[in-house]
Amino acid sequence: MSFRKLSLCCVSVCFLVLPLALRAQEKGAAQKSKPRVIVLGVNGMELDIIRPLILKGQMPNLASVIDKGAYGKLRTVSAPNCPRVYTTLFTSTNPDEHGVTGFVVGGITANTNMLKEEPIWSMLSKSGVTVGMANVPATFPVMPVNGYMISGMLTRGKNCEDGVLCAPKLSEVMGGDAVYPKSMQPELLKNVGDFYIDCERMPSAADLKGHESAVIDQWLAKVQTIREQQTKLFDYLLANHPTDFTFIVQSCEDRTGHWLYPITPFNVGYNPNINNVRQDAFPSQYVAFDKVLGTVLKHVDANTYLFILSDHGIKPLREFEEKDPHAHMDHEKTTPVIAKHDFADGDDVPGSFFAIGPGIKTDFRLMGLGASVYDVAPTILHLYGVEQPKQMRGRVLTEIFNNGESKVAAQKN
Ligand SMILES: [Zn+2]
Repeated sequence: MSFRKLSLCCVSVCFLVLPLALRAQEKGAAQKSKPRVIVLGVNGMELDIIRPLILKGQMPNLASVIDKGAYGKLRTVSAPNCPRVYTTLFTSTNPDEHGVTGFVVGGITANTNMLKEEPIWSMLSKSGVTVGMANVPATFPVMPVNGYMISGMLTRGKNCEDGVLCAPKLSEVMGGDAVYPKSMQPELLKNVGDFYIDCERMPSAADLKGHESAVIDQWLAKVQTIREQQTKLFDYLLANHPTDFTFIVQSCEDRTGHWLYPITPFNVGYNPNINNVRQDAFPSQYVAFDKVLGTVLKHVDANTYLFILSDHGIKPLREFEEKDPHAHMDHEKTTPVIAKHDFADGDDVPGSFFAIGPGIKTDFRLMGLGASVYDVAPTILHLYGVEQPKQMRGRVLTEIFNNGESKVAAQKN
């Protein structure tokens, strides 16, 4: 039995059958108010690209988070890709354990029915924490939570039948629900619009040939449209549906890097017709991301924890690895990919981690690869005083807190 089937029973039992005693207990706890935590995920943030932008003052919001908080690299899993790592982030188990080993598992697009380990949104929901999620990879079909969930990457729909690296509109989703509770969908369509879920598919070599500049500009314009829709969605949710725990993710940055990474002629795959057209394309994604962060920061006060994290970095190709083609190629597998992240050694492409909030050290740098994607879920559970389950492989990142863990430990009681 998959975790999802179990969780459906558990969540409905918790909410419908056992509410009285629990709710009474929670009421007491709620008076003390639960920590507010916002996690803003970025698919594939590359520190080599963003650090120069920060130095040049082009990412002022992220720079302010670094000044006010803790930041560093986040060790990732082997052959990292988005569904594989995000599922590790939210279960703190390895891909073979949680079951979402890649975009496609056993010939089927990864989906929540495959989830074999309990994700933190389920644990938090059961503990009375309100949960809100939007655009988190590998959350389709959505699962019931103590709040709302809007699915992200791998959502299936019209012109995106298998859900792999394409963007169906909310109204065109097929094969499962993209919004929980269902009643929220008409509200979103009315107030946010018929937004695209996830990000645009990359063009094929045939689309590009002879029309490189036009196709690149068109594609980048669509990516920006999607980003603006996602920003509007996040802003709407944070303003109108505030939850204790909120998890939102951006996904267009990484996809731009795969074929528009600013590389030089000696790099593998360099093609001047494509790679000379918009050398700013990939760095500009992070300048645009910084504006999304600015919108999220409007909802962050001194009592809010904000974690910004990415699942992996992205680097130019070192070899073609023909036996292990890159998963981000389009369906014809002809997108001229020049950078990737699913290297066998995940330490080649670490993710990144930024944190601010009550009791978190300021201007603190995590050195080396001591913090890992496995540590995110235990750290979040700890903030809510939820005991770390045995299957979780990570640890609480106590080093980012002032006075060790005294601050978070105090919230346990
Ligand atoms: Zn990627």
